[in-house]
Amino acid sequence: MKLVIGHLYPELMGIYGDRGNVLALARRAAWHGHEVEVRHLARGERPHLASVDVLVLGGGQDKEQVVVCEDLQGPLGGELRAAIEDGLVVLSICGGYQLLGHYYQPHRGDKLPGLSVFDAYTVAGPERFIGNVVISSPLLPEGAQTVVGFENHSGLTYLGPGVQPLGTVLKGKGNNGRDATEGAVYKNCFGTYLHGPVLPKNPRLVDHLLARALERRYGSAPLNPLDDRLEVAAHQAAVRLPR
Ligand code: GLN
Repeated sequence: MKLVIGHLYPELMGIYGDRGNVLALARRAAWHGHEVEVRHLARGERPHLASVDVLVLGGGQDKEQVVVCEDLQGPLGGELRAAIEDGLVVLSICGGYQLLGHYYQPHRGDKLPGLSVFDAYTVAGPERFIGNVVISSPLLPEGAQTVVGFENHSGLTYLGPGVQPLGTVLKGKGNNGRDATEGAVYKNCFGTYLHGPVLPKNPRLVDHLLARALERRYGSAPLNPLDDRLEVAAHQAAVRLPR
């Protein structure tokens, strides 16, 4: 089976190695015996989203977010929203995650409107949350529920009733440092503050995203058992890191 992985705004949104998420998806999909095509979808392009199976949108600083926000106010924004409604698998990180909510209000400058995929809004806070994070995610299958990563953001994200958090914070700050939520999930669209990059540190999460994409496209999700001893050891080492 063939999977197309789209990397949206690779030149703008890829802070702290978020590109590694694309590599992890592509590599594990291939190890599972699938054909993979990676498409770099730069600003100004009109990607054919119906042929994309997993879309990755990384994090970026406020400066890049302004540029991306403007682009998403064009036709691509509506197309992306419709594709997500149709079940497109999306992984959005930090600055990208913020732009999928209703808006992001930076410290300086105008409020940046988001796509309102997530019933959530983000406001720049007085403190920067920097450090290792561990969350527990009941939405993910057993064995994949502990997710580890690294956060670095000042935006405080608050979820409304129309969206579920990705998980509960066990270590770190997460969405806003107050309500113990981290990230957001709407249909097959995932948002999280976790860099790391997050996917190489969480091989089970990679497989979960691949399975959802395969099921959506082909109606079944055959994944080979892989020798994950190294990946699991790295994940467990990350769980034990101090904040
Ligand atoms: N500008 C955002 C914040 O600091 C996003 C930063 C990021 O993507 N790391 O909240």
